[in-house]
Amino acid sequence: MYQVEHFIAGHHTSGTSPRTSDIFNPALGKVAGKLHLASEADVNTAVAAAQAAWPEWADASPLRRARVMFKFKELLEANQQKMAEIITSEHGKVVSDAFGEVQRGLEVVEFACGIPQVLKGEYTEQVARGVDSYSMRQPLGVVAGITPFNFPAMVPMWMFPVAIACGNTFILKPSERDPSASLLIADLLKQAGLPDGVFNVLQGDKLAVDGLIHHPDVKAISFVGSTPIAKYIYQTGASHGKRVQALGGAKNHMVVMPDADLDQTVDALMGAAYGSAGERCMAISVTVAVGKVADPLVAKLKERLSTLKVAPGTDPAAEMGPLVTLAHRDKVKGYVDQGEKEGAALVVDGRGIQVAGHEDGFFLGGCLFDHVKPEMTIYQEELFGPVLCVVRVPDFESAVNLVNAHAYGNGTAVFTRDGDAAREFVRRIEVGMVGVNVPIPVPMAFHSFGGWKDSLFGDHHMHGPEGVRFYTRLKTVTSRWPTGIRAGAQFSMPTLE
Ligand code: NAD
Repeated sequence: MYQVEHFIAGHHTSGTSPRTSDIFNPALGKVAGKLHLASEADVNTAVAAAQAAWPEWADASPLRRARVMFKFKELLEANQQKMAEIITSEHGKVVSDAFGEVQRGLEVVEFACGIPQVLKGEYTEQVARGVDSYSMRQPLGVVAGITPFNFPAMVPMWMFPVAIACGNTFILKPSERDPSASLLIADLLKQAGLPDGVFNVLQGDKLAVDGLIHHPDVKAISFVGSTPIAKYIYQTGASHGKRVQALGGAKNHMVVMPDADLDQTVDALMGAAYGSAGERCMAISVTVAVGKVADPLVAKLKERLSTLKVAPGTDPAAEMGPLVTLAHRDKVKGYVDQGEKEGAALVVDGRGIQVAGHEDGFFLGGCLFDHVKPEMTIYQEELFGPVLCVVRVPDFESAVNLVNAHAYGNGTAVFTRDGDAAREFVRRIEVGMVGVNVPIPVPMAFHSFGGWKDSLFGDHHMHGPEGVRFYTRLKTVTSRWPTGIRAGAQFSMPTLE
């Protein structure tokens, strides 16, 4: 039984609270470790450490900060497999997928290595005679990141590389379910030469989160998680004068037009709906089948699902591992029961799955519903499991209206060979990230990630240029060096150029 601690001011510490929570190995269905949960005093210690480290770090040149990122990138690459195995042991996803998760995080570190270029300000010579103007972006101070279970390495890496490279100090509050990746990150940052206190990890639950969102010395909060908590973090953080970007849940639709290449579409759907057991905020959970494509699409999906390999994430042949906890597995199972009760056609039922040697693991086989209607619970709510819903619509117009009427607006995709239909879809769809024949359109690190509507509260997306704007504030300087001719006091607004 291992113990997972906090990392504050460059040191591991179990903190001041006797409270702990269980960490499970989801493939075995057994408790594997204990997590120390922060007290209010621990929150204050972490914020004080980050606050103390800030002036010196903010003073360091962007080049020096970038060099730490370069070194961190090398260390992360050397430890990528180790990090992936840690993620699999607590999250359950297959190791190759966890490796890919770390890769996507690494790309944000690569972006942060270019921070001297990105932080260059703007300069206008001669805005008036003898007057120049320039603007610069300066760091905020102590910033915090609160992250979900489903990407324990990538989501923190959407945040802290940019925050730290911009000159802020950072407190990460990872998910209680899979907290160990955060400590490997902390150790590697220290090895990379990051000064103590610049990156801290506070393990905990609501108590730690509430401590951070109320603390006067925390200037900005980045949050990723479910929509009700995102809304709460946004409202509470903003009412305490902080910048907040709070990314919430999703219900991502893939629209399949009648002219789409069916084999390619089904391959794309299998990975996007069942990869990581559907526990991705960009997973496709609804397929909108337009016109005559529905019957052959459902038939092919059913056939392909019969060969989906569900096994522990450590099995190299596994395509899908277990869900994260027993409670979550049972919640998703409950949604499947509900879908049947509400009249959707359950074409493939994964509820009875048994994985030999892992009978207590939190497994659920891939499920497929056809004839799902917009008023059903399984259509309206985020299920966050390996359940794909097919909604049949007569035409393109109905597909666009359906997607736009949903409360969530994280990602979406259209599969078609018709450029005009694709262009129209991209232009009219009310969703933050859109794929054309790309099922999971996650923007690269040098673009920014974020949804619309109930999938994001706040006005900045994460990482890339939006991340830099979020973690810095703008200062604009107007400067004149008079040459000796004094015009005396001026009481009217200047009009001469
Ligand atoms: P969650 O909302 O339960 O937890 C997220 C974080 O909030 C955790 O660190 C948790 O400790 C904290 N938290 C939980 N309850 C809290 C409370 N009452 N008060 C204060 N803090 C609280 O989410 P999860 O189950 O860990 O992750 C899955 C969710 O995250 C899904 O809804 C998924 O769509 C979403 N997600 C969204 C994105 C995105 O980019 N939009 C990315 C990944 C995950």
